[in-house]
Amino acid sequence: LRGVVALDGPSGTGKTTVARKLAAKLGAGYLDTGAMYRVVTLAVLDAGVDPHDTDAVVALARSVRLDVATDPGRPEARLDGTDVGEAIRTPRVDAAVSAVSAVPEVRDLLVQRQRTLIEEASRDEGGIVVDGRDIGTVVAPDAPLKVFLTAAPEVRAARRGAQDTAAGRESNQATVLASVERRDRLDSSRAASPLRPADDAVEFDTSELSIEQVLVALTELAGT
Ligand code: C5P
Repeated sequence: LRGVVALDGPSGTGKTTVARKLAAKLGAGYLDTGAMYRVVTLAVLDAGVDPHDTDAVVALARSVRLDVATDPGRPEARLDGTDVGEAIRTPRVDAAVSAVSAVPEVRDLLVQRQRTLIEEASRDEGGIVVDGRDIGTVVAPDAPLKVFLTAAPEVRAARRGAQDTAAGRESNQATVLASVERRDRLDSSRAASPLRPADDAVEFDTSELSIEQVLVALTELAGT
């Protein structure tokens, strides 16, 4: 897998910002796998399906059309042809996405799509930076560079809150912290592909680091 960077970790570590910037710097593609789980979750909620009703969730995941663009300058997510870039970042999707992404059949479906996109980018572009939770462990275990970002929960909640404010969404620090901690707990304790670093991942605690500092370190690791 030429030029594949697996970038995993919980939310609020700066992962997505760093992944996009790194991809742009390397002239590579960018794949936001979290957006894919979010699109399926949005479809579940919009259809009035209970996120814990596994059979209904699987049926829906199989029936919807999901498209993601891999341009780091313009990542795009579409549900049945409609741009849902904004709609997938709401607290209602945050609250339901861990239940949907714990369903093994949903994961199988999306992991297959992710592997196809990664192979295409590895072959046709300069490579791809893949942002997720299980990229180094499951999706692309052969990736030549695997990074796992962490940060203290309070730092992650503050970053998530700042993102919400920047996007014009209302944000309450205690609520954001509770939501971030709940999602980590669910993502780390599920049976299917739990959030954890690959054995050969380089781990970075970004609590005290700026995005620029993390970017410099990763660019060096990527060998440019
Ligand atoms: O990265 P983001 O916060 O958008 O991910 C949303 C959710 O999607 C995560 O909390 C997790 O439940 C799920 N996810 C996953 N595997 C991935 C990426 C995201 O289970 N590779």
